[in-house]
Amino acid sequence: MSRFKQAKPKDPHVILAEVVRTERVTPNMVRVTFGGESLRLFEPLGHDQWFRLFLPRAGQQALRLPTRSSALWYAQFLRMPKDQRPYVRNYTVRAFRPAGAAAAAAAAGDSTAGASSAGAALAHPELDVDFVLHGSGSGPASDWAASAAPGDTAGILDQGIAYTPAHDPDWHLIAVDETGLPAAAGILASLPRDARGHAFVELPTAADAQHLDAPAGVEVHWLPRAAPGSTAQTPHAPHTAGTGHTPGTAHTPGTAHALDAAHLPDAAHTPDAAHQVPGRLALEAASALTLPEGRGYAYLAGESALATGLRRHLVAQGMPKSDISFVGYWRIGHAAAG
Ligand SMILES: Cc1cc2nc3c(=O)[nH]c(=O)nc-3n(C[C@H](O)[C@H](O)[C@H](O)COP(=O)(O)OP(=O)(O)OC[C@H]3O[C@@H](n4cnc5c(N)ncnc54)[C@H](O)[C@@H]3O)c2cc1C
Repeated sequence: MSRFKQAKPKDPHVILAEVVRTERVTPNMVRVTFGGESLRLFEPLGHDQWFRLFLPRAGQQALRLPTRSSALWYAQFLRMPKDQRPYVRNYTVRAFRPAGAAAAAAAAGDSTAGASSAGAALAHPELDVDFVLHGSGSGPASDWAASAAPGDTAGILDQGIAYTPAHDPDWHLIAVDETGLPAAAGILASLPRDARGHAFVELPTAADAQHLDAPAGVEVHWLPRAAPGSTAQTPHAPHTAGTGHTPGTAHTPGTAHALDAAHLPDAAHTPDAAHQVPGRLALEAASALTLPEGRGYAYLAGESALATGLRRHLVAQGMPKSDISFVGYWRIGHAAAG
Protein backbone atom coordinates (compact mmCIF):
# COMPACT_ATOMS: atom_id res chain seq x y z
CA MET A 1 0.00 0.00 0.00
CA SER A 2 1.34 3.45 -0.90
CA ARG A 3 2.01 6.00 1.80
CA PHE A 4 -0.63 8.63 2.27
CA LYS A 5 -1.67 11.33 4.73
CA GLN A 6 -4.46 10.22 6.98
CA ALA A 7 -7.00 11.56 9.44
CA LYS A 8 -6.68 9.00 12.22
CA PRO A 9 -9.57 7.99 14.48
CA LYS A 10 -9.39 9.60 17.94
CA ASP A 11 -10.04 6.50 20.01
CA PRO A 12 -9.85 3.32 17.94
CA HIS A 13 -10.67 -0.09 19.40
CA VAL A 14 -10.08 -3.65 18.32
CA ILE A 15 -13.70 -4.73 17.87
CA LEU A 16 -14.99 -8.28 17.61
CA ALA A 17 -17.95 -7.92 15.24
CA GLU A 18 -20.57 -10.49 14.29
CA VAL A 19 -22.05 -11.02 10.84
CA VAL A 20 -25.82 -10.42 10.91
CA ARG A 21 -26.56 -10.88 7.20
CA THR A 22 -25.01 -10.95 3.73
CA GLU A 23 -26.33 -9.92 0.35
CA ARG A 24 -24.97 -10.33 -3.19
CA VAL A 25 -25.55 -6.70 -4.17
CA THR A 26 -24.15 -7.08 -7.71
CA PRO A 27 -22.61 -10.02 -9.60
CA ASN A 28 -19.08 -9.50 -8.25
CA MET A 29 -19.75 -7.82 -4.90
CA VAL A 30 -21.07 -9.25 -1.65
CA ARG A 31 -22.19 -6.97 1.17
CA VAL A 32 -21.46 -8.28 4.65
CA THR A 33 -23.34 -6.52 7.44
CA PHE A 34 -21.80 -6.67 10.89
CA GLY A 35 -23.90 -5.87 13.94
CA GLY A 36 -23.88 -5.97 17.70
CA GLU A 37 -23.22 -3.88 20.76
CA SER A 38 -19.43 -3.98 20.24
CA LEU A 39 -19.89 -1.65 17.25
CA ARG A 40 -20.88 1.16 19.62
CA LEU A 41 -17.12 1.58 19.99
CA PHE A 42 -16.81 2.39 16.29
CA GLU A 43 -16.69 6.10 15.37
CA PRO A 44 -18.00 6.69 11.81
CA LEU A 45 -16.04 9.37 9.93
CA GLY A 46 -17.58 9.13 6.44
CA HIS A 47 -15.42 9.57 3.32
CA ASP A 48 -13.16 6.59 2.58
CA GLN A 49 -12.93 5.40 6.18
CA TRP A 50 -11.06 2.11 6.19
CA PHE A 51 -10.05 -0.46 8.75
CA ARG A 52 -7.95 -3.56 9.32
CA LEU A 53 -10.06 -6.67 9.07
CA PHE A 54 -8.91 -9.72 11.02
CA LEU A 55 -10.20 -13.09 9.81
CA PRO A 56 -9.74 -16.62 11.13
CA ARG A 57 -7.36 -18.98 9.35
CA ALA A 58 -8.72 -22.29 8.09
CA GLY A 59 -8.98 -24.79 10.93
CA GLN A 60 -8.71 -22.18 13.70
CA GLN A 61 -10.95 -22.87 16.69
CA ALA A 62 -11.26 -19.20 17.62
CA LEU A 63 -10.27 -15.88 16.11
CA ARG A 64 -7.18 -14.56 17.90
CA LEU A 65 -6.99 -10.75 17.89
CA PRO A 66 -4.38 -8.22 18.98
CA THR A 67 -5.46 -6.18 22.00
CA ARG A 68 -3.55 -2.97 21.22
CA SER A 69 -5.32 -0.45 18.99
CA SER A 70 -2.25 1.75 18.44
CA ALA A 71 0.42 0.84 15.88
CA LEU A 72 1.58 -1.71 18.48
CA TRP A 73 -1.12 -4.10 17.25
CA TYR A 74 1.30 -5.16 14.53
CA ALA A 75 4.08 -6.08 16.96
CA GLN A 76 1.54 -8.17 18.90
CA PHE A 77 0.43 -9.80 15.67
CA LEU A 78 4.01 -10.71 14.74
CA ARG A 79 4.56 -12.24 18.17
CA MET A 80 1.68 -14.68 17.65
CA PRO A 81 2.71 -18.14 16.41
CA LYS A 82 2.19 -18.19 12.64
CA ASP A 83 -0.54 -20.83 12.73
CA GLN A 84 -2.52 -18.75 15.27
CA ARG A 85 -2.30 -15.36 13.58
CA PRO A 86 -5.46 -14.11 11.91
CA TYR A 87 -5.41 -13.05 8.27
CA VAL A 88 -5.24 -9.24 8.08
CA ARG A 89 -6.73 -7.35 5.14
CA ASN A 90 -7.90 -3.77 4.55
CA TYR A 91 -11.53 -2.84 3.89
CA THR A 92 -13.71 0.27 3.69
CA VAL A 93 -16.89 1.28 5.49
CA ARG A 94 -19.69 1.13 2.89
CA ALA A 95 -22.30 2.30 5.40
CA PHE A 96 -22.62 2.67 9.15
CA ARG A 97 -25.99 2.89 10.92
CA PRO A 98 -25.50 3.84 14.57
CA ALA A 99 -28.84 2.40 15.68
CA GLY A 100 -29.18 -0.44 13.18
CA ALA A 101 -31.66 -1.26 10.44
CA ALA A 102 -34.80 -1.44 12.58
CA ALA A 103 -34.30 2.06 13.98
CA ALA A 104 -33.40 3.43 10.52
CA ALA A 105 -36.56 1.88 9.05
CA ALA A 106 -38.66 3.25 11.91
CA ALA A 107 -37.18 6.71 11.36
CA ALA A 108 -38.10 6.41 7.68
CA GLY A 109 -41.67 5.49 8.67
CA ASP A 110 -41.44 1.88 7.46
CA SER A 111 -42.80 -0.31 10.25
CA THR A 112 -42.39 -3.58 8.30
CA ALA A 113 -38.83 -3.32 7.00
CA GLY A 114 -37.14 -3.72 10.36
CA ALA A 115 -39.28 -6.64 11.41
CA SER A 116 -38.82 -8.55 8.16
CA SER A 117 -35.05 -8.10 7.99
CA ALA A 118 -33.32 -11.07 9.64
CA GLY A 119 -31.33 -10.10 12.72
CA ALA A 120 -32.32 -6.43 12.48
CA ALA A 121 -35.03 -6.39 15.13
CA LEU A 122 -32.61 -5.09 17.76
CA ALA A 123 -31.53 -1.48 17.48
CA HIS A 124 -27.82 -2.32 17.42
CA PRO A 125 -25.32 -0.43 15.30
CA GLU A 126 -24.63 -1.95 11.89
CA LEU A 127 -21.63 -1.72 9.57
CA ASP A 128 -21.82 -2.69 5.88
CA VAL A 129 -18.70 -3.80 4.03
CA ASP A 130 -18.68 -4.47 0.27
CA PHE A 131 -16.24 -7.23 -0.69
CA VAL A 132 -15.17 -7.75 -4.29
CA LEU A 133 -15.36 -11.48 -5.05
CA HIS A 134 -12.29 -12.11 -7.14
CA GLY A 135 -12.49 -15.87 -7.50
CA SER A 136 -12.88 -18.92 -5.31
CA GLY A 137 -9.58 -19.94 -3.71
CA SER A 138 -7.82 -16.75 -4.81
CA GLY A 139 -7.72 -14.87 -1.50
CA PRO A 140 -8.72 -15.46 2.13
CA ALA A 141 -10.81 -12.30 2.44
CA SER A 142 -12.70 -12.80 -0.81
CA ASP A 143 -13.32 -16.46 0.12
CA TRP A 144 -14.43 -15.54 3.64
CA ALA A 145 -16.95 -13.00 2.32
CA ALA A 146 -18.29 -15.43 -0.28
CA SER A 147 -19.28 -17.93 2.41
CA ALA A 148 -19.87 -15.59 5.39
CA ALA A 149 -23.02 -16.41 7.35
CA PRO A 150 -24.85 -14.92 10.35
CA GLY A 151 -22.92 -15.64 13.54
CA ASP A 152 -19.47 -15.59 11.91
CA THR A 153 -17.05 -13.18 13.58
CA ALA A 154 -14.24 -10.91 12.41
CA GLY A 155 -12.02 -8.31 14.04
CA ILE A 156 -12.14 -4.64 13.04
CA LEU A 157 -9.58 -1.93 13.80
CA ASP A 158 -10.45 1.55 12.49
CA GLN A 159 -7.69 3.36 10.57
CA GLY A 160 -9.45 6.62 9.64
CA ILE A 161 -9.63 8.37 6.27
CA ALA A 162 -7.18 9.22 3.50
CA TYR A 163 -9.38 11.78 1.68
CA THR A 164 -7.86 14.73 3.51
CA PRO A 165 -7.58 17.91 1.39
CA ALA A 166 -5.67 20.64 3.22
CA HIS A 167 -7.63 23.28 1.25
CA ASP A 168 -11.21 23.73 0.07
CA PRO A 169 -10.96 22.15 -3.41
CA ASP A 170 -12.52 23.89 -6.44
CA TRP A 171 -13.03 20.45 -7.96
CA HIS A 172 -12.66 16.80 -7.06
CA LEU A 173 -11.27 13.91 -9.07
CA ILE A 174 -11.90 10.33 -7.97
CA ALA A 175 -10.52 7.36 -9.92
CA VAL A 176 -10.97 3.83 -8.61
CA ASP A 177 -11.49 0.23 -9.64
CA GLU A 178 -14.16 -1.97 -8.06
CA THR A 179 -12.24 -2.29 -4.79
CA GLY A 180 -12.42 1.50 -4.48
CA LEU A 181 -16.15 1.67 -5.18
CA PRO A 182 -16.98 1.72 -1.43
CA ALA A 183 -14.47 4.54 -0.90
CA ALA A 184 -15.81 6.49 -3.89
CA ALA A 185 -19.35 6.02 -2.57
CA GLY A 186 -18.36 7.27 0.89
CA ILE A 187 -16.44 10.28 -0.41
CA LEU A 188 -19.21 11.30 -2.83
CA ALA A 189 -21.84 11.04 -0.08
CA SER A 190 -19.64 13.13 2.26
CA LEU A 191 -18.87 15.95 -0.20
CA PRO A 192 -20.75 19.25 0.04
CA ARG A 193 -23.79 19.19 -2.25
CA ASP A 194 -22.35 22.00 -4.41
CA ALA A 195 -19.08 20.12 -5.06
CA ARG A 196 -17.95 19.74 -8.69
CA GLY A 197 -15.76 17.22 -10.40
CA HIS A 198 -15.49 13.75 -11.91
CA ALA A 199 -15.54 10.21 -10.51
CA PHE A 200 -14.18 7.40 -12.72
CA VAL A 201 -15.29 4.00 -11.42
CA GLU A 202 -14.00 0.91 -13.22
CA LEU A 203 -16.01 -2.29 -12.74
CA PRO A 204 -15.82 -5.96 -13.79
CA THR A 205 -19.23 -5.65 -15.52
CA ALA A 206 -21.86 -2.97 -16.09
CA ALA A 207 -24.15 -4.84 -13.68
CA ASP A 208 -21.69 -4.11 -10.86
CA ALA A 209 -22.66 -0.42 -10.84
CA GLN A 210 -24.39 0.79 -7.68
CA HIS A 211 -26.44 3.82 -6.75
CA LEU A 212 -24.11 6.60 -5.59
CA ASP A 213 -25.21 9.61 -3.56
CA ALA A 214 -23.09 12.03 -5.63
CA PRO A 215 -23.46 15.82 -5.73
CA ALA A 216 -25.17 16.89 -8.98
CA GLY A 217 -22.00 18.66 -10.10
CA VAL A 218 -19.83 15.54 -9.88
CA GLU A 219 -20.07 13.48 -13.06
CA VAL A 220 -19.84 9.71 -12.46
CA HIS A 221 -18.20 7.72 -15.29
CA TRP A 222 -18.83 3.96 -15.05
CA LEU A 223 -16.18 1.93 -16.86
CA PRO A 224 -17.11 -1.78 -17.16
CA ARG A 225 -14.30 -4.09 -18.34
CA ALA A 226 -16.59 -6.83 -19.68
CA ALA A 227 -18.97 -6.61 -22.61
CA PRO A 228 -22.58 -5.57 -21.83
CA GLY A 229 -24.66 -8.43 -20.44
CA SER A 230 -21.62 -10.38 -19.24
CA THR A 231 -21.15 -11.32 -15.60
CA ALA A 232 -17.65 -12.69 -16.23
CA GLN A 233 -14.69 -11.47 -14.26
CA THR A 234 -11.34 -10.37 -15.59
CA PRO A 235 -9.15 -12.99 -17.32
CA HIS A 236 -6.61 -13.31 -14.51
CA ALA A 237 -9.30 -14.31 -12.02
CA PRO A 238 -9.50 -18.11 -11.98
CA HIS A 239 -13.20 -18.41 -11.20
CA THR A 240 -16.36 -16.54 -12.11
CA ALA A 241 -17.69 -15.78 -8.66
CA GLY A 242 -20.72 -13.84 -9.79
CA THR A 243 -22.68 -16.66 -11.35
CA GLY A 244 -23.02 -19.13 -8.50
CA HIS A 245 -25.29 -19.00 -5.49
CA THR A 246 -23.37 -18.66 -2.28
CA PRO A 247 -24.86 -20.07 0.92
CA GLY A 248 -26.20 -17.30 3.09
CA THR A 249 -26.44 -14.74 0.29
CA ALA A 250 -29.35 -13.51 -1.75
CA HIS A 251 -28.18 -13.26 -5.36
CA THR A 252 -30.01 -10.32 -6.87
CA PRO A 253 -27.59 -8.83 -9.39
CA GLY A 254 -28.25 -5.26 -10.24
CA THR A 255 -31.62 -5.09 -8.52
CA ALA A 256 -30.69 -4.14 -4.99
CA HIS A 257 -29.96 -0.52 -5.90
CA ALA A 258 -31.85 1.64 -8.32
CA LEU A 259 -29.40 3.39 -10.61
CA ASP A 260 -29.66 6.94 -11.74
CA ALA A 261 -30.23 6.60 -15.53
CA ALA A 262 -27.83 9.48 -16.20
CA HIS A 263 -25.11 7.50 -14.46
CA LEU A 264 -25.59 4.15 -16.19
CA PRO A 265 -22.61 2.63 -18.00
CA ASP A 266 -22.48 3.24 -21.73
CA ALA A 267 -24.09 0.13 -23.28
CA ALA A 268 -22.04 0.48 -26.47
CA HIS A 269 -18.81 0.37 -24.52
CA THR A 270 -16.86 -2.88 -25.17
CA PRO A 271 -13.23 -2.68 -24.06
CA ASP A 272 -10.59 -4.70 -25.91
CA ALA A 273 -8.43 -7.36 -24.21
CA ALA A 274 -5.75 -4.86 -23.12
CA HIS A 275 -8.37 -2.91 -21.21
CA GLN A 276 -9.53 -5.95 -19.29
CA VAL A 277 -6.46 -5.65 -17.09
CA PRO A 278 -7.89 -4.10 -13.90
CA GLY A 279 -7.17 -0.40 -13.59
CA ARG A 280 -6.32 0.36 -17.22
CA LEU A 281 -9.70 1.74 -18.24
CA ALA A 282 -9.86 4.11 -15.29
CA LEU A 283 -6.25 5.16 -15.79
CA GLU A 284 -6.81 6.02 -19.44
CA ALA A 285 -10.21 7.65 -19.01
CA ALA A 286 -9.08 9.86 -16.11
CA SER A 287 -5.82 10.71 -17.91
CA ALA A 288 -7.83 12.01 -20.88
CA LEU A 289 -9.61 14.55 -18.67
CA THR A 290 -8.70 18.20 -19.14
CA LEU A 291 -8.21 19.33 -15.57
CA PRO A 292 -10.72 22.03 -14.60
CA GLU A 293 -9.66 25.58 -13.65
CA GLY A 294 -8.73 26.23 -10.03
CA ARG A 295 -7.13 24.02 -7.39
CA GLY A 296 -8.48 20.51 -7.19
CA TYR A 297 -8.01 17.41 -5.09
CA ALA A 298 -7.64 13.85 -6.34
CA TYR A 299 -8.31 10.49 -4.71
CA LEU A 300 -6.87 7.52 -6.62
CA ALA A 301 -7.29 3.95 -5.38
CA GLY A 302 -7.41 0.43 -6.71
CA GLU A 303 -4.93 -1.81 -8.48
CA SER A 304 -1.50 -0.40 -7.78
CA ALA A 305 -0.71 0.64 -11.38
CA LEU A 306 -3.90 2.72 -11.54
CA ALA A 307 -3.07 4.67 -8.37
CA THR A 308 0.63 5.24 -9.12
CA GLY A 309 0.22 5.75 -12.90
CA LEU A 310 -2.52 8.33 -12.56
CA ARG A 311 -0.68 10.18 -9.83
CA ARG A 312 2.37 10.39 -12.10
CA HIS A 313 0.19 11.78 -14.89
CA LEU A 314 -1.50 14.36 -12.65
CA VAL A 315 1.82 15.56 -11.25
CA ALA A 316 3.13 15.94 -14.82
CA GLN A 317 0.00 18.04 -15.50
CA GLY A 318 1.04 20.37 -12.68
CA MET A 319 -1.02 19.08 -9.75
CA PRO A 320 0.88 19.45 -6.46
CA LYS A 321 1.65 16.04 -4.90
CA SER A 322 0.04 17.24 -1.68
CA ASP A 323 -3.31 17.55 -3.51
CA ILE A 324 -3.34 13.87 -4.46
CA SER A 325 -4.25 11.00 -2.17
CA PHE A 326 -3.24 7.74 -3.85
CA VAL A 327 -3.52 4.25 -2.44
CA GLY A 328 -2.46 1.02 -4.13
CA TYR A 329 -5.26 -1.15 -2.72
CA TRP A 330 -3.96 -4.38 -4.26
CA ARG A 331 -1.47 -5.71 -6.86
CA ILE A 332 -2.15 -8.20 -9.60
CA GLY A 333 -0.43 -11.48 -8.68
CA HIS A 334 0.53 -10.38 -5.14
CA ALA A 335 -1.40 -11.37 -2.01
CA ALA A 336 -1.66 -8.76 0.74
CA ALA A 337 0.82 -9.25 3.59
CA GLY A 338 -0.56 -10.81 6.77
C1 LIG B 1 -7.34 1.17 2.44
C2 LIG B 1 -7.91 -0.01 1.65
C3 LIG B 1 -9.28 -0.18 1.56
C4 LIG B 1 -9.83 -1.26 0.82
N1 LIG B 1 -11.18 -1.41 0.75
C5 LIG B 1 -11.72 -2.46 0.05
C6 LIG B 1 -13.15 -2.68 0.01
O1 LIG B 1 -13.94 -1.97 0.66
N2 LIG B 1 -13.61 -3.71 -0.73
C7 LIG B 1 -12.75 -4.55 -1.43
O2 LIG B 1 -13.23 -5.49 -2.08
N3 LIG B 1 -11.42 -4.38 -1.38
C8 LIG B 1 -10.88 -3.37 -0.66
N4 LIG B 1 -9.52 -3.19 -0.60
C9 LIG B 1 -8.68 -4.13 -1.38
C10 LIG B 1 -8.45 -5.46 -0.63
O3 LIG B 1 -7.83 -5.19 0.62
C11 LIG B 1 -7.55 -6.35 -1.52
O4 LIG B 1 -8.20 -6.66 -2.73
C12 LIG B 1 -7.11 -7.61 -0.78
O5 LIG B 1 -5.92 -8.04 -1.40
C13 LIG B 1 -8.13 -8.73 -0.82
O6 LIG B 1 -7.64 -9.78 0.01
P1 LIG B 1 -7.78 -11.32 -0.37
O7 LIG B 1 -7.44 -12.08 0.87
O8 LIG B 1 -9.12 -11.57 -1.00
O9 LIG B 1 -6.69 -11.55 -1.51
P2 LIG B 1 -5.09 -11.61 -1.30
O10 LIG B 1 -4.71 -12.79 -0.47
O11 LIG B 1 -4.58 -10.29 -0.84
O12 LIG B 1 -4.59 -11.84 -2.80
C14 LIG B 1 -4.66 -13.14 -3.41
C15 LIG B 1 -4.62 -12.95 -4.92
O13 LIG B 1 -5.79 -12.27 -5.33
C16 LIG B 1 -5.44 -11.11 -6.09
N5 LIG B 1 -6.41 -10.04 -5.77
C17 LIG B 1 -6.55 -9.34 -4.62
N6 LIG B 1 -7.57 -8.48 -4.71
C18 LIG B 1 -8.10 -8.64 -5.95
C19 LIG B 1 -9.18 -8.05 -6.66
N7 LIG B 1 -9.96 -7.12 -6.11
N8 LIG B 1 -9.43 -8.47 -7.93
C20 LIG B 1 -8.69 -9.42 -8.51
N9 LIG B 1 -7.65 -10.03 -7.90
C21 LIG B 1 -7.36 -9.65 -6.63
C22 LIG B 1 -4.02 -10.75 -5.68
O14 LIG B 1 -3.34 -10.08 -6.73
C23 LIG B 1 -3.42 -12.13 -5.40
O15 LIG B 1 -2.96 -12.70 -6.60
C24 LIG B 1 -8.96 -2.16 0.14
C25 LIG B 1 -7.56 -1.98 0.25
C26 LIG B 1 -7.05 -0.92 0.99
C27 LIG B 1 -5.54 -0.75 1.09
